[in-house]
Amino acid sequence: MQAKINVVDLKIQYKQIKNEVNKALREVISNADFILGNEVNDFEKDFANYCGVKFAVGVGSGVSALELGMRALGIGPGDEVITAANSFIASSSAISFTGARPILVDCREDFNIDPSLIEKKITKKTKAIMPVHLFGQPALMDDIIKIARKFNLYTVEDACQAHGAVYKKKKTGSLGDFGAFSFYPGKNLGAYGDGGILTTNNKRLAKIVSMMRNYGQKKKYHHKFLAWNSRLDSLQAAVLRVKLKFLDEWNMKRARNAKLYNQGLKGLPVTAPPVNPDSTHIYHLYVIRTKSRDKLASFLKEKGINTGIHYPIPIHLQEAYRNLGYTKGDFPITEMLAKEILSLPMYPELTGKQIKLVTDSIKNFFQTYGNN
Ligand SMILES: *Cc1c(COP(=O)(O)O)cnc(C)c1O
Repeated sequence: MQAKINVVDLKIQYKQIKNEVNKALREVISNADFILGNEVNDFEKDFANYCGVKFAVGVGSGVSALELGMRALGIGPGDEVITAANSFIASSSAISFTGARPILVDCREDFNIDPSLIEKKITKKTKAIMPVHLFGQPALMDDIIKIARKFNLYTVEDACQAHGAVYKKKKTGSLGDFGAFSFYPGKNLGAYGDGGILTTNNKRLAKIVSMMRNYGQKKKYHHKFLAWNSRLDSLQAAVLRVKLKFLDEWNMKRARNAKLYNQGLKGLPVTAPPVNPDSTHIYHLYVIRTKSRDKLASFLKEKGINTGIHYPIPIHLQEAYRNLGYTKGDFPITEMLAKEILSLPMYPELTGKQIKLVTDSIKNFFQTYGNN
């Protein structure tokens, strides 16, 4: 039996950057500069630069970047924020944490929010639209920003799966009023623990969030308002600074792997992930569709190939969101996708041989069981 292939493998990556990462970590520890020190400052500058924005504020997680950013824009109880029904729950829960109500919108077959369905969800209470660049592909931002301008709404990018993805020559995180990124270890740019960052060109917003993450402090022991502890810690910033230098290379390798998958899956009864023109997909996940999803997943598992489902239960059908009052059938595309999607192994270091093994196994599955 061959070695197992997992959906992500962070150990291979660490081996490649071990010396540099260990050195960066040792420096933070020997300087005892653990909280909001130089490493965090420097990483914020590097990341802002990378995204092509003026400011970046490191925080404790992606969901925190979304929540604090929206709070800093004044979004709260009584407000509504429109977002994607097809996402990880954190997109919506960040809205709920501000006190506002998430208003969900169905997606297109490219997995992202369908801009043509947004306008009819806008009410007097709507304050913002939050597209999610799901799986690493930018949402259709021109259409979304046009609607936001027409109705005088903020645009908030959930870029937690899209570090380095480009839409019409601009990086995600630089397209809306602010962008939010997660550094959860499995993300394209991942820390060795939790972390997140907010990107923006709005100086005031950056200033407020930098206080919000740190007890509302203007300077030490001067608290302008009551706020949270949601800081990006220096050890994580040091790791991220090393890793940021490799992000484009890693994203390119993911794209190469996606191409190999596309070729290997040609002619099989599965749908490869659609790619929109004018944007680069950074393949945080490589998600195929098939009506035989569950059977295929167990077949692959028997062959030592692990897969994932992102996500098996749509947000509007989650127990946690009973109170929103949505029911089955409200978002037909999202619900259909939830039954058909399968995330194949995807990380930069995946080899052509491994990918061939995956696609050959999928071919083998359909030869054995047919397409039903
Ligand atoms: C990972 C993720 C988040 C939340 O990030 P955390 O760092 O885990 O808080 C939010 N939205 C999307 C789409 C994500 O994938």
